[in-house]
Amino acid sequence: MPETTDPEPLPLDTPRGTGTPPAEALPAPRVPGGAPDRLGTASAASTTDVLRAAESGTAFDGHHPPSADLVSDCVHCGFCLTTCPTYVLWGEEMDSPRGRIHLIGQGLSGEPLSDSMVGHFDNCLGCMACVTACPSGVRYDRLIEDTRAQVERRHQRGTRDRALRAAIFALFPYPKRLRLLRGPLRAYQSLGLQRLVERTGILQRLAPTLATLDSLAPRLRGVPRPPARVRARGERRAVVGMLTGCVQSAFFPDVNSATVRVLAAEGCEVLIPPSQGCCGALSMHNGRREEARRFARQLIDTFERTGMDYFVVNAAGCGSSLKEYGELLADDPEWAGKAAAFTAKVRDLSELLVELGPVARRHPLPMSVAYHDACHLGHAQGVRAQPRALLNGIPELEVRPIAEAEICCGSAGVWNVLNPEPAAELGDRKADAVLATGAELLVTANPGCLMQVAAAVRRRGGVIALAHTAHVLDASIRNLGPSSLLTCPDPPRR
Ligand code: SF4
Ligand code: SF4
Repeated sequence: MPETTDPEPLPLDTPRGTGTPPAEALPAPRVPGGAPDRLGTASAASTTDVLRAAESGTAFDGHHPPSADLVSDCVHCGFCLTTCPTYVLWGEEMDSPRGRIHLIGQGLSGEPLSDSMVGHFDNCLGCMACVTACPSGVRYDRLIEDTRAQVERRHQRGTRDRALRAAIFALFPYPKRLRLLRGPLRAYQSLGLQRLVERTGILQRLAPTLATLDSLAPRLRGVPRPPARVRARGERRAVVGMLTGCVQSAFFPDVNSATVRVLAAEGCEVLIPPSQGCCGALSMHNGRREEARRFARQLIDTFERTGMDYFVVNAAGCGSSLKEYGELLADDPEWAGKAAAFTAKVRDLSELLVELGPVARRHPLPMSVAYHDACHLGHAQGVRAQPRALLNGIPELEVRPIAEAEICCGSAGVWNVLNPEPAAELGDRKADAVLATGAELLVTANPGCLMQVAAAVRRRGGVIALAHTAHVLDASIRNLGPSSLLTCPDPPRR
């Protein structure tokens, strides 16, 4: 890992060295099709913009280009570097937040969208650790989202990459399609084929991407789907719409069941329309903005007439996108108001529970847990105190910190599928830090992190039980004791 205390700027034109061009040395960013506002939302797409940019060979067209103002906010101090997982792995300036911001500036200055430039953007996990670390408040999140949308619309990827991405986006944002995989996957696991395939390494040789998916697949358990409406226990304090999620509902239905029980115990009536679809997080985080807008409209439409007070989400990646619906649909006159109203109701489960305050009795859980901040909860939503407050509110539960908590575990949506080797390195690093806590249970709030860390712990030969925050609260409220959580849901396969 590079030195953590070196504030010296690194060069922007070579991979290593010293000295960053000062801001005034960078060419003034130029935006084809007109200057955007600070959120990069000034101009609507026009065929003329796109054609003009394509003909001139510049990286970005006038449809939501990354904001030149936001680029200029970066003072090249380098405080973000050591929290950036790709910089930590490779020590390459262009794979740091500062380097990527410089590349965006070059694109705004008229440089073409080269394969190399796109490669550095693609390497970004979107973990937003740099946003937390930046003392200047640079909105890298906005910059990379606008950049990715331009890349997806304007850059021609290689055949294999295109095919892999097409397969991913034809499957993952569709809960019904994912649920169809449950039967075959359960049979594959229960017949011992998964162990056999992993031991022989045959899948790794023949189809590395499938091998990655296989290594991530959690052990599936049969859990009935929640009913469309669950009444509050005791006095009703709120009506809550709930996102069941795509990966969450297909592979972690027990997290949804625990969430519903906890909400009901805390006096919430829970609305769970079975017709709900994807929230669009995966599409939004990967530059597929139109697809994300379509998913967002459908989800708002499903919930807006339910009369809910809050919309609760138990998956960090989904929550961060739901909180951006207002901006995602800001230039759609029909949907902008609805999206803003919807966003105002969105809460992570831990946020809502802290906001409401506990009424259900907590029973002791004499055990130690390590709490892992999912990047899209901690960095993207700033929700760190609430899950810890909830865990600390359980009698006899000891919460232990994890070293390098700010560094991503390497999951990052589908980044670990698209980049299996560096993702495994980051996963192993996280697994070592988790195992070093000596805790009996790892707790986090994102299905991607659960799968990624479980796979890494197995690779490292360690054993630790894993749970969502909802599982722990549910076990405490129902007085189930530590054994209900320590039955390792994902035992070693060897
Ligand atoms: S979002 Fe994460 S991976 Fe991307 S530049 Fe920021 S810290 Fe690095
Ligand atoms: S993004 Fe922020 S922390 Fe990173 S170099 Fe720029 S100003 Fe410094």
